[in-house]
Amino acid sequence: MEGQMTDTKETVRMVRKAVPEVILMAITPNGEDVIERACRTCYLSFHRYNPPASTEELIRKVIRKGHHSVLEHASATFRIKGASRVFTHEMVRHRLMSPSQESQRYVHYGSRKPYEVVEPDSIVEGGFKDRYFEVADECYKLYQEMVDAGVPKEDARYILPGGITSEIVVTANFRELRHIFAIRCAERAHWEIRKICTEMLRIMKNEAPIVFKEYEIDDNDCVIIRNTEEGS
Ligand SMILES: Cc1cc2nc3c(=O)[nH]c(=O)nc-3n(C[C@H](O)[C@H](O)[C@H](O)COP(=O)(O)OP(=O)(O)OC[C@H]3O[C@@H](n4cnc5c(N)ncnc54)[C@H](O)[C@@H]3O)c2cc1C
Repeated sequence: MEGQMTDTKETVRMVRKAVPEVILMAITPNGEDVIERACRTCYLSFHRYNPPASTEELIRKVIRKGHHSVLEHASATFRIKGASRVFTHEMVRHRLMSPSQESQRYVHYGSRKPYEVVEPDSIVEGGFKDRYFEVADECYKLYQEMVDAGVPKEDARYILPGGITSEIVVTANFRELRHIFAIRCAERAHWEIRKICTEMLRIMKNEAPIVFKEYEIDDNDCVIIRNTEEGS
């Protein structure tokens, strides 16, 4: 299989190192314009509708004032590949975000999908890389042996490691995305969810620069929320 690893004794391993990927699948077309027009409905202030200047002015104003429900009129859907079950377990805690996740009951690892695990830098730096992949490979061998012996995949999966990848599609409105980025891109968040969410934020800053304007990504891929605007 493509990407199989070999250790120093040239033993072929099933396990391979995961590479994370964040793909924007769908987004509300002209999302910021939709938000402006929804917001203007509250005040029937369409006489002031003059995009793009009026869009920025109004959206920034409602964000400052905490009138965040209008941000719920636009949403985005992301496909996230090559990230671990450790990450997805954290991500699915966001109750206002809708997830659809690969099922370990139905997917046969090493057959329908390559057996991949995420490699944390600290494990490599600590000198545990070889053993980490060795043990992950052993887990796979027992998984496969059990499946071959008739154990259902839903039970054989108990031996699979937390570092195994799990594909997930998530949909959230812009208000919820702002909340997720505020807590998951922060320095205190775990590095993997921070990395994935920072990538999502990069995409969102490009797609909806007004809504995500004050979320700045620093050199360490952490987010600083800069509220430099005047209060009103
Ligand atoms: C650094 C960090 C460490 C963490 N450590 C742990 C841990 O050790 N153990 C653990 O179990 N979890 C942990 N979590 C997860 C955390 O407790 C939350 O479950 C997760 O971040 C989802 O956040 P949320 O509830 O604010 O957001 P969402 O579920 O995305 O909801 C968004 C917002 O909607 C509102 N909302 C949603 N549901 C309700 C509700 N039922 N009632 C009232 N308001 C609601 C709230 O304002 C909420 O902030 C950690 C999170 C972070 C960022």
